[in-house]
Amino acid sequence: MVAGNISEWARRIRELRTEEGYLILTHNDRADLKPGQYLLETAKPQPAFAREISKETRAFVLDRNGFTCQMCGAVAGEAHPYDPSRKTRLHIGHVVDKSMGGSDDPSNLKAICSVCNEGASNITPTRPDLQKLLVQIRRATVSDQRAVLTWLQAKFKA
Ligand SMILES: [Zn+2]
Repeated sequence: MVAGNISEWARRIRELRTEEGYLILTHNDRADLKPGQYLLETAKPQPAFAREISKETRAFVLDRNGFTCQMCGAVAGEAHPYDPSRKTRLHIGHVVDKSMGGSDDPSNLKAICSVCNEGASNITPTRPDLQKLLVQIRRATVSDQRAVLTWLQAKFKA
């Protein structure tokens, strides 16, 4: 690769990712990749990440969903809980798939991370049961409980 072509290369990678739906990972996604290294995870373009959805709608949906994957709870920019080598990257997904007649209206959109979007997460989309959740939190260390409290306070701006 010629040095002068690096920015053009980066732009082409972005196009492949965002416009053509190819899942190309960079050093932002995986700690074992160096800047300038790319990994094409699958040669098959991903089903539409709702690429035609406006920036405003994306921002609205991400904000409404608290920048949190609605399937596994991973938070944008943090290490993914089920694949800590990857930073959580959120996409906009459809609640009812477009192929099933779902619309691009914000009410039919949700934040979903790349891991869940690839079907790599083993987490079921059902929400955790409150009783089990409380049991888990009561069993956690005090410092983890404090981390939960800090997170909840930030979420609810208490
Ligand atoms: Zn997820």
